[in-house]
Amino acid sequence: MAERSRINRMQAVVLRRRDYNDADRILTVFTPNLGKLDLIAKGIRKTSSRKAGHLELFTHVSILVAQARTWDIITEAVAVESFRHLRGDLGGISRASYVAELIDVFGEASDDSTRLWDMLLLALRELDAAEVDPDLLLRWFEIHLLSLAGFQPELFHCLGCGEDLQPVDNFLSFQAGGIYCPSCGETLNGVERISPDVLKILRHLQRSTWGAVRGLTIRPAILQAVESILYRYLVTVLERQLKSADFVRRLQRVN
Ligand SMILES: [Zn+2]
Repeated sequence: MAERSRINRMQAVVLRRRDYNDADRILTVFTPNLGKLDLIAKGIRKTSSRKAGHLELFTHVSILVAQARTWDIITEAVAVESFRHLRGDLGGISRASYVAELIDVFGEASDDSTRLWDMLLLALRELDAAEVDPDLLLRWFEIHLLSLAGFQPELFHCLGCGEDLQPVDNFLSFQAGGIYCPSCGETLNGVERISPDVLKILRHLQRSTWGAVRGLTIRPAILQAVESILYRYLVTVLERQLKSADFVRRLQRVN
């Protein structure tokens, strides 16, 4: 196996930080090629630290990382995009935190860090520009994240008989991760009705690029139903597969 060079330059977004020792901080960052990493920023809490302003949460930063025995060390940091606009708004901060937490918990389940990286930057840029419906953005983000992490819900074929789903009321199962046709779903426990209008939007979000979705206007009642479904599906996946009970508790507090 080739040895990594001692110092690497990389792009990163800061997902999470915690204080360490007197003046240091451990940062959890997401990178395009290596996915999620824990790195140490030494001396960052001293007022003289030149790195501090570049390593705020959600900042897209270019860093130099030196290999070390415990945590690799950030030796230099320069902000590439600081997303100043979204930081000035509580709604922007809470949405960016949500996006960062989702990348944090789902990042390990996905082996395509480059696509996750692209989605993360896309979401932060759109939240910062504040030109689109942020709820629509988060729904698109959630459903694509689920696919990348291997939890894509089945929205086109019945989970029971495999037939194409028809534009009628079908049955949704969070546990099974998809939809049953009326004849298969009617007798099942733990399923709920899903209307053809809601299913249509879920499918559209799942198979479309953000560019094809961002200009859509969706009736508030439909978007709310989509939000409720994705929220409960995320909770199911987080609890059962990812065992991320802490994140679920935080989610339940804001919803
Ligand atoms: Zn069926």
